[in-house]
Amino acid sequence: MDNEKMKTFKELESAVRSYSRGWPTVFEKAKGYRLWDTDGKEYIDFFAGAGALNYGHNNDTMQDKLIEYIQDDGILHSLDMGTTPRKKFLEKFQETILKPRNLDYKIMFPGPTGTNTVESALKIARKVTGRETVISFTNAFHGMTIGSLSVTGNSTKRKGAGIPLNHTVSMPFDQFVDDQDTTLYLESYLEGSSTGVDLPAAIILETVQGEGGINAARMEWLKRIEEICKRFDILLIIDDVQAGCGRTGTFFSFEPAGINPDIVCLSKSIGGIGLPMAITLIKPEYDQWTPGEHNGTFRGNNLAFLAATEALTYWETDDFSENIMERADFLKDTAESIVEKYPELKAEARGRGLMQGIAVHVDGLAEEICAEAFKRGLIIETSGPKDEVVKFLPPLIIDEEGLSKGLEILEASIKHVLA
Ligand code: PMP
Repeated sequence: MDNEKMKTFKELESAVRSYSRGWPTVFEKAKGYRLWDTDGKEYIDFFAGAGALNYGHNNDTMQDKLIEYIQDDGILHSLDMGTTPRKKFLEKFQETILKPRNLDYKIMFPGPTGTNTVESALKIARKVTGRETVISFTNAFHGMTIGSLSVTGNSTKRKGAGIPLNHTVSMPFDQFVDDQDTTLYLESYLEGSSTGVDLPAAIILETVQGEGGINAARMEWLKRIEEICKRFDILLIIDDVQAGCGRTGTFFSFEPAGINPDIVCLSKSIGGIGLPMAITLIKPEYDQWTPGEHNGTFRGNNLAFLAATEALTYWETDDFSENIMERADFLKDTAESIVEKYPELKAEARGRGLMQGIAVHVDGLAEEICAEAFKRGLIIETSGPKDEVVKFLPPLIIDEEGLSKGLEILEASIKHVLA
C-alpha cells in the first residue's frame, strides 16, 4: 500500500467510537483533575474516565509504585497465580474495607472490566438458586456483553444484541406512581397470584443509575428491596461499578441504607489509576464455584493490584469521605441554583455525593451545553435515555478551586447556549 492510500488514524477506527465525537481533539497528558491536548489546551475533567478515575489522573504515589515495580522486574501477567501484589490487595481490602464495615465476602476476580463482574454475578446467582430469571430496572446499565446487556434497560443497546435477550424482567426503578412506591408493584408481581411467575434468581440494581440519567434510589426503597429479596429468597446483587469506590461519599454506595447485598460488583475506580480491574464480592455461603468453572486470561493484572492497594489507603481514615461530602454539598447547591436561575432549561438537579446531574427537559439542549463546555475547557458528558442529563462525575480528589472553575465554565456555556 503506498502512502497516498494510507488511512488516517481516525479513518482506521470503527464507526462505533463515541466519546471522541463529543471531544474532538487528541489528548496527551493528564494530572489530578486536569487534561491537556496536543495543542497544550487545558481541560477540567468532570467525567473522570466514566467513573474509573475517582482518585484522579496519575496519582504520584501510585505512579511511583508502578514504575518501581516494573523496574524491579515484577510479574505483570499471572492469570490467577499467587503474586505479591494480589496477596497484598486482598489483605488490604479485608483490613481497610471489609472489616471496618463488618462485611464478610469472598472476593472473586472475574476479568478486567465492569461487564465481567456483572456476568459472574448473574451466573453465580443462577447456579446457587437453580433459577433462570433475573429482575432488573428501567434505565439500568450493567454492561455490553450478552448477559449484562440482558439486564440493561436501554432499548438501542439491547437491539444491538441482534438476538432475543431472555430470562430477564424489567421493573420500574424507584419512583412514586399515584403516591405508591414501586416496590408494591414488584412485591405483587413476585406473589404471583395474578401473574403465575416463577421466582427469579436475583434482583440486580445500581443505587444511583449512572448511564440511565443519575437516578438515585432512596434509602428506604433500597431497604424495601432487600426485605423483598429476603422474603422471597432471591439474591440481591448491587452493581457498584460506577457508584462505588467512594463516588457517593462512602466506599460502597449502599452503606447509608444499612443493607447487606448478597453479591456486589465493583470495577472502574477499584483499579486506582485507571487500570482495568474488577471484583465480585460474594457472601461465603454463595461462593459455590468449582475451580475453573468461570475463568479468563486477564484475572491477575498485577499493576492494577498495586494501584488498587495504594488507592485503599484513602479509606484508612474518615477524612476522604468527609472531603467528598463537602465537595458534594457545594456541587449540589450550585446545580440547584443553576436550575433556579435558568427556568428556560426546564431542569431538575439530582444525584448523590459526587454523582450529580442536571436533567434538562428541552430536547438536545443538554448535549449542546456539553459541546459548548468542551470548547471552553470542560470535559462533561450527558447521560439518560435521551441524553438529557448533564452528568457531573469529577474525580473525588478535586479541590474547591477546580470544582468552582468547572462549574463557572458550565454556567457560561448554559448562558451562551440560551442566548
Ligand atoms: N455497570 C455499571 C453500573 C456501569 O456504569 C458500567 C459502565 N458504564 C458497567 C457496569 C460496565 O462496565 P464496563 O464498561 O467496564 O464493562
